[in-house]
Amino acid sequence: MIHKEFYTSIQEELKATGARLVAVSKTKPESDILELYEMGQRVFGENRAQELAAKYETLPKDIRWHMIGHLQRNKVKYIAPFVHLIESIDSIKLLKEVNKEARKSERVISVLLEFKIAEEESKHGLQFEEISSFLGSEEFRGLENVRIDGVMGMATFTDDLDQVRREFKQLNRIFQELKQKHFPEADHFREISMGMSGDYQIALEEGSTMVRIGSSIFGARG
Ligand SMILES: *Cc1c(COP(=O)(O)O)cnc(C)c1O
Repeated sequence: MIHKEFYTSIQEELKATGARLVAVSKTKPESDILELYEMGQRVFGENRAQELAAKYETLPKDIRWHMIGHLQRNKVKYIAPFVHLIESIDSIKLLKEVNKEARKSERVISVLLEFKIAEEESKHGLQFEEISSFLGSEEFRGLENVRIDGVMGMATFTDDLDQVRREFKQLNRIFQELKQKHFPEADHFREISMGMSGDYQIALEEGSTMVRIGSSIFGARG
């Protein structure tokens, strides 16, 4: 079941900031996705490669699918032919694998670099120094089938809203630093994907360009 009132009200909130909505449909049935599609939503996020590929097969082809979860290298091939944005690049090895599979599909795949801004151990992410030096290397310039569109991160799951805000500020600083160092002229390096059902308002205040919202739209996951 879709929470239509929330969906309508968040559209209004987003209009004010220019940020966009990724509707996170993981574990939800295709009928729910179609219901939101009928309301005009075209961008959906999933966190498992095979589930994403199965939904791509049966759902309308103008949906833009975002991969938002930890992606194993041996699963990149399932989504490389069609995925619109891989938000969860959490290692240099994964970035190289995406480049390889994108080349096989004769595509350039847009990606975001995921940083671990939360204190929780469970979260994945790149180390700033390591990725920054890789972005300055010849090897990176040889990766012609990936395009880096920005950064992504998840805040700690906590009631401490000051901590959440600090973590979002940190991701924004990482974005600014990478932009200045490596993409000063690149219009495509412009996305800061942060904010979920519980913290998206803080994320928007801290400069989010893309919020990823699941349970507030689709209801709690089982
Ligand atoms: C599940 C998930 C979301 C959405 O979470 P909700 O709290 O349901 O809005 C956002 N980002 C990532 C990476 C997720 O895995």
